[in-house]
Amino acid sequence: MFDVLLLVAAALQQPLDTLYTRKIRELTTEPRFNTELTDHLPAHSAIPTPLQALGYVPGEPGRLSYVADITRYFRLLDAASPRLTVFELGTSDEGRPMIIAAIADSATSEHLDRYRAITAALADPRRLTADSAARLVAAGKPIYWATGSIHSPETGSPEMLMELAYRLVAGESPLLRQIREGVITLITPVTEVDGRDRMVDIYRWSKAHQNVRPPLVYWGKYTAHDNNRDAIVLSQVLTRAVLRGFFDWHPQVLHDLHESVPFLYTSTGTGPYNKGVDAITVNEWHELAYHEITELTKRGLPGVWAHNFWDGWAPNYMFWVANGRNAIGRFYETYTSRGADCHTVDLPERSTSVHWYRPNPPINGVRWCIRNNINYQQSALLLALHHVSRNGARYLDQFYRKGVRAIARGTDGRGPNAFHIPAAQARRVEAAALVNLLRLHRIEVYRAARGFTAGDVTVAAGDYVVPLNQPYGPLAEDLFSRQDYGPDDPRPYDDTGWTLQYLRNVALHAISDTTVFRRPLTLLTEDARVAGELQDAARAAAYLIAPTTETGLAQFRFALADVRMFASDDSFAVGPRRYGRGTTIIPAAGADLERRVRQAAESLGLTVIGVRALPDVRRHELEVPRVGLVHSWLRTQDEGWVRYAFDRLGIPYTYLNVHHLKDRARLKEFDVLVFPHVNNNPQQIVNGLPMVGPPVPWRKSAETPNLGVLDSTDDLRPGIGLDGLDALADWLAEGGVLLAEGPTTAVFIEYGIARGVTIERARQLRAPGAVFRASVRDAGSPLTYGYPDTLAVYFNQAPLLEVDTSRVPEDQDPAITREQARMRPRVVLAFHSKRDSLRLSGLLVAGEELAGKPAVVDVPVGRGHLILFAIRPFWRWQTQGSFALAFNALLHWNDLDIDWPMDLQPAAPRVAESDGHVGP
Ligand SMILES: [Zn+2]
Repeated sequence: MFDVLLLVAAALQQPLDTLYTRKIRELTTEPRFNTELTDHLPAHSAIPTPLQALGYVPGEPGRLSYVADITRYFRLLDAASPRLTVFELGTSDEGRPMIIAAIADSATSEHLDRYRAITAALADPRRLTADSAARLVAAGKPIYWATGSIHSPETGSPEMLMELAYRLVAGESPLLRQIREGVITLITPVTEVDGRDRMVDIYRWSKAHQNVRPPLVYWGKYTAHDNNRDAIVLSQVLTRAVLRGFFDWHPQVLHDLHESVPFLYTSTGTGPYNKGVDAITVNEWHELAYHEITELTKRGLPGVWAHNFWDGWAPNYMFWVANGRNAIGRFYETYTSRGADCHTVDLPERSTSVHWYRPNPPINGVRWCIRNNINYQQSALLLALHHVSRNGARYLDQFYRKGVRAIARGTDGRGPNAFHIPAAQARRVEAAALVNLLRLHRIEVYRAARGFTAGDVTVAAGDYVVPLNQPYGPLAEDLFSRQDYGPDDPRPYDDTGWTLQYLRNVALHAISDTTVFRRPLTLLTEDARVAGELQDAARAAAYLIAPTTETGLAQFRFALADVRMFASDDSFAVGPRRYGRGTTIIPAAGADLERRVRQAAESLGLTVIGVRALPDVRRHELEVPRVGLVHSWLRTQDEGWVRYAFDRLGIPYTYLNVHHLKDRARLKEFDVLVFPHVNNNPQQIVNGLPMVGPPVPWRKSAETPNLGVLDSTDDLRPGIGLDGLDALADWLAEGGVLLAEGPTTAVFIEYGIARGVTIERARQLRAPGAVFRASVRDAGSPLTYGYPDTLAVYFNQAPLLEVDTSRVPEDQDPAITREQARMRPRVVLAFHSKRDSLRLSGLLVAGEELAGKPAVVDVPVGRGHLILFAIRPFWRWQTQGSFALAFNALLHWNDLDIDWPMDLQPAAPRVAESDGHVGP
């Protein structure tokens, strides 16, 4: 009792930092946009405030800090107080530090390793008894990790988190003491550190240049807004850092801070909820959200609400690092202040109307500044931390029990018990890559020591098996199950389907038989690697590589760019072995080539076979193209994923921007151009931004030291321009090959370059980000070399391509007909024509509008080819199964005329389409 009184007295007696407090109150536009938790700042003689360290109070209009200053501030706190410790989280693509600051009372802070060991132990219930788990729960403390500004234009959270850290370290109020004692708070002030610095550059530049705000063209090196859509494939540095941080701490909550809608949306989701998420997590989402809503509403804050924003379906969000691992992943959206500005709130009715989920809606006509945003975020987060600190044992217990339930779920017959991935399959390197992705997720993968049958699945010795009686089993099940998003479910927020073995074209089987757990399985303790080899090299006249659609084939061609290689136009046999169309043929030329071929085969996992004679088959040379990858200055979101794939696979290219397309001499330096999707309409892509006001540069300068890393321009406003399109059309006519994907194909269709192709408007079709069955329509096209009859593709709503199928008069001169045929678009791949078997995973409504539509079209332009992908062959590093459609265009760029169909009804399926199993 005495202690408590002492504490209260200390809290009451702690002096205020009066200057800072006055600033908070000035910067807050109305008292009702603040709470008693954040309307003042406690003073502390030894701990520097953000004002002392940075020269301003977070929430000052016009002021945003760079990462280095934010990081320096956290290090100052670390030096000043035993309550805060800074840990390295990693280094960004451009070398900026990412950090985690851990805050707790000094007794807890001295033993952070002990508490981390407790949460790590609770994360794997297989090693615990109920009693030992209960003891750990009693001895442990929950860990709550707040992550700021993953989305770079959302600028307030790093500012807020500096002040929150100060408050948690220096404040002595009962609430702050309770938080320090009851929960370990982790803060990552900036998650996308490279993008943050660019955003601060742009913001400062705009203040000095008539408030002209350049678009934030680049955030991170590869991803912009999609930097939090990577948690399925864990490809980006940022995602891997967060994942590592998760495994370092096993936090019970991972809380991502976003800014968009007014005034504070706290995530519960509309449903449908992802099937992999435990029901306890769903309830925890609601518990935390409604605690915040009630507490903030009680304090008079308008516009704090839940539900009607995000769905809770796709597992690709960064915070799924937690939701997929029996922890809680959640987020806020607070109201943007457009950098660090003020504006008068003027919202549409849909944002201010009263609903059951928003009884206290945001209001119009008030002035909104960055400090309001900071007050909302910070007050809500303090309330959440307080709630978790007071319910620490319960949150730890629930974390543990979710692990128990995850293991039980793999055994109780509700779903499969294991997955089987054959090691010997057509795309075995891709299969191994999928295994290694699971290992990165810390999903345990085993190898069969001997062959066996479980359920109706025959497992061979050496095959991979993923038993689901493990803590992250539901995550594995989520990645490999079909997603059934209902047509009457609420509007999806992002992708509705992602079934990974489909998108990666890997054979995988579900096993429903619990005897699989007792089979001879050996845990993989290092990454799976396919040993490539050169067979029968002695006295070989040629080396052959079967067309498997593995990306290693393209990597091989580019790695040995100086070596002459050919591809067969037809299938053929050598002895008992059959080789498909597009088999790579390398004439042998001595010991050095043999050594190089062997080395490349081994490193890429390819099987290269020596034969005694050059096969007697039609063939064409694989000339190495000079490749340009083109980006728009409007945004690089989708281009970045394509660039990432090329970089990760080592496919060489030159990086171009749309301005280069006007330069005819420059165009001549390229054989193939790749123009990825740009999420703007065709007119914007062609015209660029309005040419008003001063030029808008994107380059490194004294004012903008963080811009211009990947590309630069003195004025990013112009688009391709009609002159650029004209030059591009001429370049195509002279033999160039251009790949365009997604709705951006409309640029070339609407501006008349892609003759014979139109875009149809969707009527009832709903196909938002899902997996569909496509059929090869033209097996003679080099684009389809290696593919089976059907494959899974990713498609997102548009475009619906239509190809001219008008008939020619029967009595026309055959020579004219032939010439005409050569001018007509060649449908290479089409969406499956039977509506009922079109959908593989995700939502599809009114599938008849998509059924049979072209998915990949080769449009002749003079001597060149414009290849239109309605699908997205490089979607978010998920669609390795369709990479080869694009890489085949690179490999066979000047031989795409091979076996051009003379038939003038290209839209009709040439062969009966199979409804069979997707995958090799
Ligand atoms: Zn965001």
